[in-house]
Amino acid sequence: MADNATDACDVKSMDDIMALCKRRGFIYQASEIYGGVNGFWDYGPLGSQLKKNLRDAWWNDVVMLGCGGKPGPDGKPVRIVPVDTCIIQNPKVWEASGHVGGFNDPMVDCRETKSRYRADHLKCLGEKGDTEGQIYAYIENDDASYASARKKLDRYKKRALSDAEIDTCALTELGNAELAITVGPDAKEVGTLTPPRAFNLMFKTVLGATGDAEIDKAYLRPETAQGIFINFKNVVDTTRVGVPFGIAQTGKAFRNEVTPRNFTFRSREFEQMEIEFFCHPDEAKAWYEFWRDWRMAWWESMGLKGENLILREHDRDELAHYAKEGAGTSDIEYRFPFTAPGYGELEGIADRTNFDLKQHQEHSKKKMEYHDTTRGELLPNGQPKGEWYLPHVIEPSAGLDRGVLAVLCEAFTPDPERPSGVVMKLHPRLSPIKAGVFPLVKKDGMPEVAEKLRAELHQRFGRLGAIEFDEKQSIGKRYARMDEAGCPFCFTIDGDTMTDQTVTVRDRDTLSQERMGLDKVGDFLAEKLGV
Ligand code: ATP
Repeated sequence: MADNATDACDVKSMDDIMALCKRRGFIYQASEIYGGVNGFWDYGPLGSQLKKNLRDAWWNDVVMLGCGGKPGPDGKPVRIVPVDTCIIQNPKVWEASGHVGGFNDPMVDCRETKSRYRADHLKCLGEKGDTEGQIYAYIENDDASYASARKKLDRYKKRALSDAEIDTCALTELGNAELAITVGPDAKEVGTLTPPRAFNLMFKTVLGATGDAEIDKAYLRPETAQGIFINFKNVVDTTRVGVPFGIAQTGKAFRNEVTPRNFTFRSREFEQMEIEFFCHPDEAKAWYEFWRDWRMAWWESMGLKGENLILREHDRDELAHYAKEGAGTSDIEYRFPFTAPGYGELEGIADRTNFDLKQHQEHSKKKMEYHDTTRGELLPNGQPKGEWYLPHVIEPSAGLDRGVLAVLCEAFTPDPERPSGVVMKLHPRLSPIKAGVFPLVKKDGMPEVAEKLRAELHQRFGRLGAIEFDEKQSIGKRYARMDEAGCPFCFTIDGDTMTDQTVTVRDRDTLSQERMGLDKVGDFLAEKLGV
């Protein structure tokens, strides 16, 4: 476990981050007044605006600007069109995609505590060389459960085992797990864990008021991608786009995760931002590398930087069966406080080959091939003959909720010098409150001037986030509130404003306070927000 030991000095406290999220209205537990519901989270006023700003940034940069205007590997503008498809589709979609048959996590139940664990999240701890002997299980990346498993093992052996005697392996590597004596992470008795069993992660529902649970069953989508694949032909036939081009979609996805945990990181309801980019198989490698590098640069532009963000190319044996044929698969990963010093996936970029289109072609019996009139040998009239093929698909698939969580963790900056004790250094583009406007005191005409400035700023920037007017409490407390909310700039109207028409602008990150003309505030903010 030494490898996974976290250095408390470097790592921000997840408890503190969650407490701030609750205190300031970023994220609440879903159904909190009824005791909550495991794996579901609600976003409050600040959180929902932050989430919208991240989604809008993605939509703007990917869809509207086509990779921010960066030309593709063919030197031409990147063409992306959006769709918005249903959460519930014909169940045959999920048979074709492989989710009905294969979207399974091997799971282990604890007979004593009735808890259920993902087998790949459990590690076994046992005596070295003792393949049929005493094996203890604990949750990966969790120092406390490791220590407790170790203690149980010592008790079972009636002596303290040294580090050298202890061996760890993944539960799934045990082969016949029934041979091993396992101890659930929360169990008192030994031998309480069942062997791993497959568990389908899709949520089922029944269509129609009198629907038959088997005949009329349907699924909540576990990913937004399939809604794109099944509309590939529609988009080609009804628009002017031609390969290479992409289809983008944001929306909710649902997975009945076995062990939802780590705040919103692993939830049962979450939002994805997915692109399926269709290209000629010969060009898949170039597009894969283009997307991988551009997506990494995009997350950096959202303020995730330095050692906290990495791009990890998958080893070949890690790949899904279809992806082995493809140009590559990589993950963009963030070092969350609960994964540190390791990383957790934010986005996967994969060459899915023509796997999905082929599957849907076979299952639906509808031709998914694309007729590329720019390819093929030249005819006597000098025109290309055209080529029919199933395009390869490069898929950059990102989690919006994980993105928001990474942005929150990155922004969270303890600062004992400030009255709030912490400042959220959110990228101004993402900040849910773009500016605070405060009258120093509630008299002498200051509230009226402040309200007028707020209204002007609201008119100009309100579509991007809130302009907060606040006249309650001391100015220090108002600044502290804004620091915790991640508001980048505060404008204060004071006695001097009434005579020389200037205001103080306070910069959240540098704490500098400068004076500027009231009439310059709008342009100043526009420049800082990059609009
Ligand atoms: P993991 O290995 O963490 O379960 P995954 O590889 O199954 O993730 P994908 O199917 O590639 O994830 O989904 C694309 C993105 O959707 C992920 O990169 C992640 O950001 C997000 N995502 C997937 N599952 C969840 C979840 N349970 N809660 C929140 N976000 C999720």
